[in-house]
Amino acid sequence: MTVVLDTLSSRAAGVAGNTTSLIGLERGELRQILATLGVAERQQRMRANQLWRWLYNRGVSSFDEMTDIAKDLREKLAKNCDLARPEIVTEQVSNDGTRKWLLRLAPDEFGRQHEVETVYIPEQDRGTLCISSQVGCTLTCTFCHTGTQRLVRNLTAGEIVSQVLIARDRLGEWPARLAEATDVPASGRYITNVVLMGMGEPLYNFDNVRKAVDAISDGDGLSLSKRRITLSTSGVVPEIVRAGEEIGTMLAISLHATTDEIRNRLVPLNKKYPIEQLLQACRDYPGLSNARRITFEYVMLKGVNDSVADAKRLVRLLSSIPAKVNLIPFNPWPGTDFECSDWDTIEKFAEIVNRAGYSSPVRTPRGRDIMAACGQLKSASERLNVKQRRALEASPG
Ligand code: SAH
Ligand code: SF4
Repeated sequence: MTVVLDTLSSRAAGVAGNTTSLIGLERGELRQILATLGVAERQQRMRANQLWRWLYNRGVSSFDEMTDIAKDLREKLAKNCDLARPEIVTEQVSNDGTRKWLLRLAPDEFGRQHEVETVYIPEQDRGTLCISSQVGCTLTCTFCHTGTQRLVRNLTAGEIVSQVLIARDRLGEWPARLAEATDVPASGRYITNVVLMGMGEPLYNFDNVRKAVDAISDGDGLSLSKRRITLSTSGVVPEIVRAGEEIGTMLAISLHATTDEIRNRLVPLNKKYPIEQLLQACRDYPGLSNARRITFEYVMLKGVNDSVADAKRLVRLLSSIPAKVNLIPFNPWPGTDFECSDWDTIEKFAEIVNRAGYSSPVRTPRGRDIMAACGQLKSASERLNVKQRRALEASPG
């Protein structure tokens, strides 16, 4: 069953005027805003903490609900700031329970509103939210649908965090709603894991991803441990160790091939940062242990990277890294020439990797009927070319 709800509503996201969105700001930035609104220095820290809790722990969408903040300050906040989330354009529910939201962002500096996708994947013992970090992608991995959409722009920290807030809104995960719900999982939450595996390359939007992860993992905020957040990269080597130090999530690497020749074809970034450099950055990733492994993602492409020799090479490549392997059956999209490996081939591949001592689950494709599976995400947002940008900048109003 695919349900498409058209929920485009009047909850216009930050469209209202020239107000500053508070979502995604660091506590220090919240304090600065409070200072400009005349809050005395000795009160700024306490007020910023209150705001933080209302935003992320309670999920309120209006200043009126912030009952422990004085009315005159709430009024000033409402006049100068906003709590708007991106608009939900559509919500699709797959026949396997996967949900996909198409979100419309607040207008950019040219007044254009772009769109991104976010996916929720419920499983027996966990619920994973897959969030996007960019509209489109600069990289052009040949098997990836997102890679056919040029980079339109980076998401702001607020737009990244908002994807979690919106999912919690729709799933009913805020404390007040959870208290009334009858189907809450034993973990006490619907979203137990967040993966930066949606649209875009997170390490090309480093600072905003860092800020967003801070808000998602903060104990007074959304409070999801960094061990339950995974950042996936196609291999931006110079940023990998820094990501471990400054962002500190679990790491996934989109490896997908065992020779530079094949990887160059699949992940063109490999020409810049070949496999050996990538694996060295992985060995240097801080905090690795058998309990804290890197996940290597490997998309199964028929006749391209799925031979027994590939499986054996993969095992050799990973031999010095605490690793697990995630085999992803290729998810087709309109216009692609690739095909998914046969099931027997995938099983044989998994067995070789498994026998070498690596956990190598095959990722069950989820939400394929609504184009929500890995690598299928894409939005209609188009980048302006230079001529269009100039024309827009020159036009009055
Ligand atoms: N840009 C980051 C984050 C995206 S994660 C990265 O590439 O790691 C999405 C995962 O799905 C990546 O491992 C990506 O390589 C993989 N993927 C892309 N297209 C796919 C497809 N059509 N079928 C299966 N997996 C795909
Ligand atoms: Fe971009 Fe990742 Fe898709 Fe490659 S696989 S095009 S890096 S989103």
